[in-house]
Amino acid sequence: MPPLPPGVTAQQFSNALREFGSAVGPEWVLSTDEDIRTYRDAFSPFWEEAEEPIPSAAVGPNTVEQVQQVVRIANKYRIPLWAVSTGRNLGYGGAAPLNSGTIVLDLKRMNRVLEVSEENAYALVEPGVSFFDLYRDIQERGLKLMLDLPQPGWGSVMGHALDRGVGQGPYEDRFGAHCGMEVVLPSGEVMRTGMGAVPGAKSWQHNPYGFGPFVDGMFAQSNFGVVTKMGFHLLPEPEALRLVTVTAPRRDDVVPFVNTVGYLKNAGICPASFGIRSPRNDTGYWSASLKFYGPLKVIDAQWEHAQEKFSAIAGVRFQEDALYRFPLSPDAIDGIPNKNVLGIPDLAAFGQGFVRDGRPHGYGHYFFAPIIPMTGEAMLEAQDVFEQAFKQLELPGRGPVGFTGWQRRSLISLISLPVEHDTGKAQKNREAFRGLMRIAGEHGWGVYRAPVVFMPDAMEVYSYNNHALRRFHETVKDALDPNGILAPGKCGIWPRRLREAREARA
Ligand SMILES: Cc1cc2nc3c(=O)[nH]c(=O)nc-3n(C[C@H](O)[C@H](O)[C@H](O)COP(=O)(O)OP(=O)(O)OC[C@H]3O[C@@H](n4cnc5c(N)ncnc54)[C@H](O)[C@@H]3O)c2cc1C
Repeated sequence: MPPLPPGVTAQQFSNALREFGSAVGPEWVLSTDEDIRTYRDAFSPFWEEAEEPIPSAAVGPNTVEQVQQVVRIANKYRIPLWAVSTGRNLGYGGAAPLNSGTIVLDLKRMNRVLEVSEENAYALVEPGVSFFDLYRDIQERGLKLMLDLPQPGWGSVMGHALDRGVGQGPYEDRFGAHCGMEVVLPSGEVMRTGMGAVPGAKSWQHNPYGFGPFVDGMFAQSNFGVVTKMGFHLLPEPEALRLVTVTAPRRDDVVPFVNTVGYLKNAGICPASFGIRSPRNDTGYWSASLKFYGPLKVIDAQWEHAQEKFSAIAGVRFQEDALYRFPLSPDAIDGIPNKNVLGIPDLAAFGQGFVRDGRPHGYGHYFFAPIIPMTGEAMLEAQDVFEQAFKQLELPGRGPVGFTGWQRRSLISLISLPVEHDTGKAQKNREAFRGLMRIAGEHGWGVYRAPVVFMPDAMEVYSYNNHALRRFHETVKDALDPNGILAPGKCGIWPRRLREAREARA
């Protein structure tokens, strides 16, 4: 039997499920053990342990009005809801909530692409629209638009952005690429943000701000509302994409090397996401993989300029890895290993990450992802700090060799810890994960995103002035959601009635 929501009797729960069924259709209220299995986090750091968060049920509305009704019923019974768009957030929590007994508000059925404009390069989508769905829609309509994608294409355009996920191209900041939202507030009321607040708005997906405070950020990595529509700016299909690798030979080259990458990004010469790795003793100590999207003449000039800038570093080497011209023929697409840099969703990342020597490897992983400044000095410091941390926490390996450009002036040092099904090993990894967050915090680094079960720990690090930021979040939470029904504890934000749960966890 799935667990009940805390403080709710079996009778109340069964009444609530009946009411949810009247709102969304009884077949879209899922509460058997078999149903619930699909809402567990397949990469849970607590797999099959008492602390693994198990939902009590899932409810699948098909319209905004149904979302409103579900939220109102949840208020009536004080049953917590956990919204997911497609719930494929593997590595950061899957579809599972933070607390056992929560009901998953599964928005997959709301999968309509509401509008796509080629002229102004944007789309307006519902939560359940996956990257595959939007890609297909654009292809079927023959529009010259490109998606900026995370590695796995099966997730939702919206959920990925709301968790402030990272894409692979020039629109890598997926939340930053959004424009306009519709939100069901914890009261059940519907609100539109930005220009969308003007009745009959003509520029909802054209301009993000509208008038007055810009509140959109409050609905990403939060528990203040259920987003039911979201606009996204898309990249006009470029003429070409050039992939290149630049290497520098010595460890000491790191400062000018990273400075040059940063300059190219900040100047808009190479704005797409990139990776920097070390050591690459075969070709050089540092290597950067860069992507240039645009008209061929322009990207040739950008690449030439980049080479001039890098040439200030003695011994630097350049390699042209690939040049793709759009539109690509189906035959050309077939042979390409990393399709998502071309805006074509796929699931190749799973094969690359979990298969070693042709066999499945491990049970998955979860990500520790601190943000550091985009400087060579910060990279060296992070490598040293995490090498020491790995020793101290008895983790295998030497810490991060790779960094990913994130936003214009920062890098992510992405470290994945393996999911273990042996309790002892799993606990050791969880302690190591918390240790990494603590050590990062001591050096002034916080994570950009966290697996659900570690969200409260991640927020602990953001403690400036006695947790002024968290106190602000919780003031807003209490005002918007007095019954605390939306995702209690998510990102460390607890409603007043459950705040002692945080103290109990500490
Ligand atoms: C091998 C591998 C590679 C990966 N590569 C990448 C990558 O390149 N980039 C990257 O960013 N991630 C990556 N991930 C992480 C993750 O799998 C993806 O980000 C995935 O797309 C997120 O799942 P989703 O879109 O289904 O989001 P969901 O699970 O639907 O939602 C994500 C979060 O947003 C909240 N949310 C969702 N919808 C709503 C809503 N409507 N209202 C309010 N809150 C909502 C959810 O509660 C959840 O916290 C990778 C994972 C793996 C395993």
